[in-house]
Amino acid sequence: MSYDDVLDRYEPVLGLETHVELGTATKLFCGCSTVFGGEPNSQVCPVCLGLPGSLPVTNRAAIEFTIKIGLALHCDIAEWCRFARKNYFYPDMPKDYQVSQYDEPLCTDGYLDVALDGRTYRVEIERVHLEEDTGKTLHVGGDTGRIHGANHSLVDYNRAGIPLVEIVTRPIRGTGKHAAAVAKAYVSELRDVLRDLGVSDVRMEQGSLRADVNVSLMPPDADQLGTRTETKNVNSLRSVERAVRHEVERQAGVLDAGGRVVQETRHFHEDSGTTSPGRSKEEAQDYRYFPEPDLVPLAPPRELVEELRASLPEPPSVRRARFAETHGYTAVDMDQMTNAGVVDLVEATIDAGAPAAKAKGWWLGYLVGRAGELGLEVAELAITPAGVARISALEDEGSLTNKLARQVADAVLAGEGDVDAVIDAHGWRVAGEDELVAAVDAAIADAPDIAAKIREGNQGAVGPLVGAIMKATGGSADAKRARELILERLS
Ligand SMILES: [Zn+2]
Repeated sequence: MSYDDVLDRYEPVLGLETHVELGTATKLFCGCSTVFGGEPNSQVCPVCLGLPGSLPVTNRAAIEFTIKIGLALHCDIAEWCRFARKNYFYPDMPKDYQVSQYDEPLCTDGYLDVALDGRTYRVEIERVHLEEDTGKTLHVGGDTGRIHGANHSLVDYNRAGIPLVEIVTRPIRGTGKHAAAVAKAYVSELRDVLRDLGVSDVRMEQGSLRADVNVSLMPPDADQLGTRTETKNVNSLRSVERAVRHEVERQAGVLDAGGRVVQETRHFHEDSGTTSPGRSKEEAQDYRYFPEPDLVPLAPPRELVEELRASLPEPPSVRRARFAETHGYTAVDMDQMTNAGVVDLVEATIDAGAPAAKAKGWWLGYLVGRAGELGLEVAELAITPAGVARISALEDEGSLTNKLARQVADAVLAGEGDVDAVIDAHGWRVAGEDELVAAVDAAIADAPDIAAKIREGNQGAVGPLVGAIMKATGGSADAKRARELILERLS
């Protein structure tokens, strides 16, 4: 069933829960390092292992980062709130509980505006709260890496206790066929906000930013929300969009067949773009939350909140508006670049010397498409803005044709080296005028019968000569100029 057909008949309702690992130097309640990629269980101590007699102390930087996020999302900052203990029995938390926030989050009732196709969608934020991240489990021996079928599991507590902020939206309605694109644009905008705040490295591929995507469908005459599913830990922007599309199509299939959508968590599969069932949520788990007795309540002074508010950077949307004005981009240009995630790349390309139209043209007109073909985020491509600016300059001065310029870009993307190294290695450059004249004369001398036809006025005979010249120059001739020269010589 196609996504567009489904959304002619159902209203999609989205909800996004985004987890952000904060970029503090140490964990939330102890002094252990938060550096990614350490030897398993090398960044642990009695506090984050929950050993008896140890006591947590809250990391001030983590609180300040969370308040900054709340302020950037236009939230109210609680005058007084507490951490809560969330009790559960998975081995990824050595304490058998996770310190989180429950009914007293630090930040509440905000919003983030998301621009898409000339429209602004206001996504309401219900809450922003702070909690400690869990450890990582690795299930060994099965085919899927999941616990089912495995013969043993390994656990790494390096991540346990790293400060994690959870940003929860209210149900997002009224997006219609743009639902999947709005979900992606929201996470993208949120990522830009967080990056500009300097509170996280927001690297989705390393899991420092990950989204749980809630989707439900409402028939047009319904007066309450449909049953939702929650696709967990979606870790790229492209996957956020695909997860929404897949759930919309899958749920419509269930509903159209007279079935019932099961409330459950689901896993997203990068390879197929589909989801599969995880834990059922039909019976809500009882985490027996209670206020964390080992920590003092949080009561951020109003002067601190105002100080942090005054320190906020210019929001990405405002920065983009200024950027558009400076470089003469239209609203449509900006939407396209924002949705493709290339505004910062285009800006850096302009800063490296490329004209605004060229910088946009390269990223939007070519590199975004290549990223899609390679299955990468555009920012992950192996070409730098400085490299794009260099190619653009060589094109402008006539050293590269458009075709050669793209070949150079492809070689850089393939990891062959930087722009100049690639051009030197392949000998890719436009043939100079002298070389071209020599090639034209040689081609004419080699094909006297074709030359005779052209002399008689048969311009259709020029093609084979141009082909011969391209061959002789290894494809580096400017075909248009070669044609001019042939006609000049034979008129
Ligand atoms: Zn520790």
